[in-house]
Order: sequence, then structure tokens, then C-alpha cells
Amino acid sequence: MFTAFLIKYAEIGIKGKNRYLFEDALVHQINHALKKCEGKFFVHKTQGRIFVDALTDFDYEETVEQLKKVFGISGICPVVYVEDEGFERLCETVIQYLADVYPDRNRTFKVQARRARKNYPKESMEINMDMGEAILNAYPEMTVDVHHPDILLNIEIREKIYIYSEIIPGPGGMPVGTGGKAMLLLSGGIDSPVAGYMIAKRGVKIDAVYFHAPPYTSERAKQKVVDLARIVSAYTGPIYLHVINFTDIQLYIHEKCPHEELTIIMRRYMMRIAEHIARETDCLGLITGESIGQVASQTMTSLVATNEVCELPVYRPLIGFDKQEIVEISEKIGTFETSILPFEDCCTIFVAKHPVTKPNVKVIRRHEKNLEEQIDDLVKTALETEELIIVE
Ligand code: ATP
Ligand code: MG
Repeated sequence: MFTAFLIKYAEIGIKGKNRYLFEDALVHQINHALKKCEGKFFVHKTQGRIFVDALTDFDYEETVEQLKKVFGISGICPVVYVEDEGFERLCETVIQYLADVYPDRNRTFKVQARRARKNYPKESMEINMDMGEAILNAYPEMTVDVHHPDILLNIEIREKIYIYSEIIPGPGGMPVGTGGKAMLLLSGGIDSPVAGYMIAKRGVKIDAVYFHAPPYTSERAKQKVVDLARIVSAYTGPIYLHVINFTDIQLYIHEKCPHEELTIIMRRYMMRIAEHIARETDCLGLITGESIGQVASQTMTSLVATNEVCELPVYRPLIGFDKQEIVEISEKIGTFETSILPFEDCCTIFVAKHPVTKPNVKVIRRHEKNLEEQIDDLVKTALETEELIIVE
């Protein structure tokens, strides 16, 4: 029965000049999300509102599911729109609408009319009163409550007339593309996909880098990362995934540096390489899934050591989250099942029995000097042999 959706978005911070940028980005992201749906849609903005009109038959559930993934949307209102065939006909339609949408009508309601087209013969207040009366006549079990109605029945008079009363919550946030781009260090774990999701929610476009270490990490471990990127891309749009072969760098560190510092030095090289790719691809920051104290390489002291090798800001949206809180988000966004598949990631292969939890940066720097002979070449080769996968 629904033929359109009215898209609600939070307007805080998007007043004035930036507003159209925000709206255009939202329209763009909605169009992108709806590409996956059956049916044809026309997404348009009119007078500070965004409408999604269905031009053909469409799958209601699927369409709502897709819209729920578009950042910037605070609410999705399924709309019935009808031609203007006079007020009496409109009241009949509304009465039928209430029957269809609310099988149980033992509820309070309020009519809220808005005239975007001023030549309509009745004024808004008049519409509210007269339609309220028609509804009460049709359904004596309903009562009016102008302050806290169960059903807020919106009637918008435009070229056509829009009727809506339901609001399905959207994901909130800002439309992707309004906030620049950042490079996500994406591993196969639970945390990093969630971290990417959270930064994208603030309107940031995401690219990703994955370090693999064949043959120590398998093709299936890599496929798992591609799959995770694909799930995240349902929210963010296409993700350019840079796959970097890290094996030789890792083996070299393993050969030249103390084993308990292996993870931290490896992480420093990941950050350096990620920053290099970030700069080449116009990213304004790095994103990781780190959370204070989760593992040895994520103590405050370890974070000092990994942080000092890059100049771009490193965004760590999960920094204050407990594992359980992260798991809850990953379940909500649909990455959890994939994240827990048991394929080794490159960190688990080389972990020392007792990794340092309080690495001394000066000592780490000194030990990295052991790598001087070959490390630049190894990094260069790793960058030159990157595999770029465009994930949609
Ligand atoms: P995750 O669940 O995201 O894998 P984790 O708890 O396993 O995180 P670490 O392995 O210490 O934590 O990694 C910390 C962060 O470093 C990750 O969240 C991710 O951003 C990045 N990272 C770790 N390993 C890789 C990798 N192989 N490729 C790309 N990024 C990685
Ligand atoms: Mg990991």
C-alpha cells in the first residue's frame, strides 16, 4: 500500500551553507543503497525534505532494510500518496489507511496537516478539525489527544497529498562523503570492522588496508577480510581494499629483533605503511580497532609506541569500549558471524609467549635500527606489489 518514504534527518550542524551538501550526499547515498533493491525509485528533495518515491512495484521490507543502513537518516516514514480529488475523498482514503495500518484502533490520535501548496481550499487548522471529526465518526473507539497522541497522522498537501504516521528509526549519523576519507586498518577480527562502521557513521568515506602473510595466513583468511569489507560497505558504499603482502617484513623483524617486541614493531610497520597509502589516496586519518588494555599491544604504553610512527591522526573509536560492547555492535551491523570464523590472522602466527606490555620507545627505536639494511626495500616491494580489491 505504501508508495513512498519521507526521509527524516537530524538538522543539527547542517544549517545554512552546508545544508545542501548534506542533503545532496544523503540523496546520493540513498540512491546507492537502493540500487540493490528490486524496483525503481525516484529520490528527490523538496522544500527541506527528502522523498523516495517508488516508480514501480517494490519489496517493502527489503527497501526499508536498505534505508536503515544509510547514515544521516534519523527516521523513515512510509508514505501513502494520493491525487487531490477533493477533501471528502481524502477523508475516505485516510479512514481506509487507518484500517490498514492499525488493526487495533483503540488509540489516541492527532491530525497534523501541512499545506505546502497554499491554493488548497482548506487551511491547515481546518483540515485538522474536519478530518479529526470524520475519523471519530468512522471509528468511535479512537480519541483525540493533541499533546501525546499514539498516532500522529501527518497530512501533507503538495501537488499530491502525502499521508504518513509511522516512523521507523534510521541509523542516525551523517551521510558518508560529507566528512572526508580515512584509511581503516582492517583485520579479520571483531574490532576493526566495528571501528570502520563507527567512523563512517560520522560521514567519513572509508578505504581499507589488510596485511596478510602468505603462506602463514591462508587465502581463506584474506577472503574473510574481503567478506567483512563487503558487509561494512553496505553502510559506507564501495571500499578500496589495499592488500599488502607483509610476510617478508614480518620474517625480517622476526630475524632481527627481540621476540617479545615483535608484535609492537610489526604494528609500527603496519601503521607506517598504512599512513603511506593513506597519503597517496587523500585519506585524512587512520582508523584502528584498538581498545585500551585489550591485549599487550594495546596498553597505553604500547599505544605510545605505535602512535609515534605516524603523523596523521589515528582514530580509535573503540578505545573506551569493553569487548562485550564491541561484540554487540558487530552483531547489530552483521559482521560478528564472519569475524569469529577461525582463520588465523597474521598477528597470531608470530606472537611471542610474553610480549612486552610496557615497551620502551627508545629501546624499540634502537632495535628497529637492526632492520636498517633491508627494511626500506622490503617496504617498497610490499607497496609495489599491493593488490587492490574494490569491494561493493
Ligand atoms: P581486531 O579484532 O580488529 O582484529 P584485535 O583485537 O585482533 O583487533 P590487534 O590484532 O592488536 O587487535 O590489532 C589492533 C588493530 O590493528 C586492529 O583493530 C586493526 O585495526 C589493526 N590490525 C591488526 N592486524 C591487522 C592486519 N593484519 N591488517 C590490517 N590491520 C590490522
Ligand atoms: Mg586482530
